[in-house]
Order: sequence, then structure tokens, then C-alpha cells
Amino acid sequence: MNDIAHNLAQVRDKISAAATQCGRAPAEVTLLAVSKTKPASAVAEAIDAGQRAFGENYVQEGVDKILHFREAGVDDLQWHFIGPLQSNKSRLVAEHFDWCHTIDRLRIASRLSEQRPADLPPLNVLIQVNISDEQSKSGIALGELDALAAQVVELPGICLRGLMAIPAPETEYARQFAVARQMAVAFEALKTRYPTVDTLSLGMTDDMTAAIAAGSTMVRIGTAIFGARDYTKN
Ligand SMILES: *Cc1c(COP(=O)(O)O)cnc(C)c1O
Repeated sequence: MNDIAHNLAQVRDKISAAATQCGRAPAEVTLLAVSKTKPASAVAEAIDAGQRAFGENYVQEGVDKILHFREAGVDDLQWHFIGPLQSNKSRLVAEHFDWCHTIDRLRIASRLSEQRPADLPPLNVLIQVNISDEQSKSGIALGELDALAAQVVELPGICLRGLMAIPAPETEYARQFAVARQMAVAFEALKTRYPTVDTLSLGMTDDMTAAIAAGSTMVRIGTAIFGARDYTKN
């Protein structure tokens, strides 16, 4: 087994253990492999090891990989855009990605809606919540969620699937869990109002266990699968 296949197996085991421990079925939690800054060859190793859902933060880098694998005839991958999205890049996301996790204003949702090609299924979108209320982070406050969700669900070409958050780093399990529960409560409430809502994108390498215990349905893991990132190349 190569490193990436080995790492993936370990991450899957950790997800299964975390789910089982709190009485959830491991299949309720999707693993999103965050491949930002990593070459297509690394993604190919993960694909060979059975991984299908990938997360990218940078629009052009993501599009390059999407086209690379499409041209190679691999057509059962799922590509998730998980980075901050500027308006002038929205068209590329609408035209190439399957999901966008970082909806934080109506304007970006409207652009994605207008720009989604009619021959593609609706773009799956998540509203990003700034759950730790950090000034530096994108995302809306929980108090703004109902109003934005009500507008987003009216837009054609996009489908509201749920919520996403990047909580502030926290080493203590109890505090990770408390923040994750706030997200899960908001998610459960949204789900009762909109039948398409089924996804809570929450949990990274260091807080995955708490996120799963709180109710996350999608964890986003990069380093534990692909190794440390080298940003000097970008
Ligand atoms: C980079 C990134 C991840 C993965 O982070 P790791 O620490 O490498 O696991 C997850 N979510 C988002 C939004 C990211 O930008």
C-alpha cells in the first residue's frame, strides 16, 4: 500500500470508530479528501484507493484537476469548492464543481444560480456559518441564517444541502463538542424546514471526533491523507 492509501485507510477507521462510539452508522459520515496544493498524481493515488469526493480551496487549481480527470475518463468524482469565493471567480465554480461549501451572501448565491449551466444538475450549496464569531473568518452569524436560507432555496440552478463551518482551533474535546453542537442544532432546525437539507460539513483532522459526535455528516481532511502542504510553490 502506498502512503496515501494507507493514510486514507487510517482516516476511514478513525471516522468509523468515532461514529460507532456515539451510536451512529459510519456511512452517515462522508469523507471529503482536501487535495488543495497537491498534484493530480496524489489525487490519482487517492482515487485508486477508492476515494471519490475531493475538496479544493483555490478555483483555478481545482478546475485544472477537474479537467485533468475528466479528460482521463474518470467521471465518477465529486468536486467540492471549500475556499472563500470572490464574485469574479464564481462562474468557474458554477461551471465545473459539484458543490460549493462557502455561501455567505445572497450575491454569490445569485451569481452561482445564474451561471450554473442548464445541462448540469443543480450545484449543491452549503451556507457557511462563522460559528466562532472570528473577525478574520468568512461566514454569516447564526442569527442571519434563516433569512439567507429562505432566499437561497428560491434560486434555480443551485440546491441548498446544508451548513458548513470552520470553528476556531480548540484543543479541548468538550469545547470542540460544544461549538459543534451549536452547528448541529442549527442544521437540525434547517432540515425540518427544507427537505433538500442533509449535509453538515464540519470537522477537520484535529476536531473530527467531536464533530462526528455532535452530528457532522461530512468531515474535510487534508493533511492526514496527503501529508503537510508546501505553500512556497504557490
Ligand atoms: C485546508 C482545509 C481543510 C483540511 O485541513 P487539514 O488540516 O489539512 O486537514 C478543511 N477544510 C477547509 C475549509 C480547508 O481550507
